[in-house]
Amino acid sequence: MLKVTKFGGSSMADAGQYQKVRDILMADKERRVVVVSAAGKRHSKDHKITDLLYLCHAHVQYGVSCDSVYDMITSRYLEIRDELGLKLDLESEFTELKKRLDAKQVSQDEMASRGEYFSAKLMAAFLGFQFVDAAEWVFFNIDGTVDKKKSYAALKEQMTGEGIVTPGFYGVMPNGTIRTFSRGGSDITGALAAAALDADVYENWTDVSGILMADPRIVDDPQAIAEVTYDELRELSYSGAQVLHEDAIFPVREKNIPLNIRNTNDPQAPGTMIRESFEEDSDQLLTLGNFLRYHHMDARSLYAKYNFSRLCVEACVREAYSEPIEETMTKAFSRLVAIDSRRWIQFLLDILPRLDDVDFTKLSHMEQQMLNMFYTTVWQETIEDFDADAVWERFYTLCDSPVMLQELIELLRY
Ligand code: ASP
Repeated sequence: MLKVTKFGGSSMADAGQYQKVRDILMADKERRVVVVSAAGKRHSKDHKITDLLYLCHAHVQYGVSCDSVYDMITSRYLEIRDELGLKLDLESEFTELKKRLDAKQVSQDEMASRGEYFSAKLMAAFLGFQFVDAAEWVFFNIDGTVDKKKSYAALKEQMTGEGIVTPGFYGVMPNGTIRTFSRGGSDITGALAAAALDADVYENWTDVSGILMADPRIVDDPQAIAEVTYDELRELSYSGAQVLHEDAIFPVREKNIPLNIRNTNDPQAPGTMIRESFEEDSDQLLTLGNFLRYHHMDARSLYAKYNFSRLCVEACVREAYSEPIEETMTKAFSRLVAIDSRRWIQFLLDILPRLDDVDFTKLSHMEQQMLNMFYTTVWQETIEDFDADAVWERFYTLCDSPVMLQELIELLRY
């Protein structure tokens, strides 16, 4: 068994976080490959090292001294080293880099990459693992894509029986210069390492306990979703679910490697497991209610971006259909999910299943108004005349679409 782990910026922010990382690795001997980010923020007012590196480079480009920013960067790493009691000579590398930077010999990408580079150097020394530079195994093609064949072979060759630590976020161009991925790209390096080594799992350690069912800025302490398929992950990029760089999915998915989002600050939490499919058959019907319960989600987070029927069609578990009502309803679902009047919901649940034989003359004024509200929400027009054919045609099309009607009723029930 081999587990490839990737630790994000907050997991690398200070010496205390390094210790947590070591505990996590020591708790499981299969965690032998470690990909690291640059040091992130220690608190909300702090700076990410990567941001400071870009800033430093910009100073030099404009002919402004970057000494104080450079100092902030180097002192963060020296502080971590000293607090961990490591005997690693970083000073000479810092001096050398600064000399080349001032002489405008360091590209923006190379400068940005140094955050991950120094993180990996320190982490390797702390763990007693071997340091493998990303420039020795992440090979870019001239067009900026990764040469996977060459990169995978190179990492396999570097992989000893013992553990290795490698920096995320960058690699090397065919001409030998450093190139970075886009921001947050250490996730991609981790996925490439997992794919290269045919890992059993790719653990992505961050500061949340997985993909949350709601945005923590809005909902207090939301639960993490235990299991998600790759398709659902792509589709359910609802509020705040951006825990992962989207390009990190492909390399592991291609090799059928499960991806586990974990929390460095809560290592006991199982996090979110993402895979191609979950085999065990629950014997439950695929209904909206069951789906939401299974994923510990609520209807609002699903309908904010998507609708259940379309999700089922795209996941190939329900047949495609192309009734014109689908488009109308799909748009209306996100509006309908916001209804919170008990009375209105009760009325709709009562009338929708028997819409084709309702006698409208018998509806009270209040009931007519509630039906009118429903009509307006779905078709974005008000009912001027309850006898008009156009109104009835629309209601009948809805009745004739069992899939849509069923989903609508389920949504209202939920
Ligand atoms: N340090 C880089 C960034 O902030 C890459 C990463 O952390 O994944 O974007």
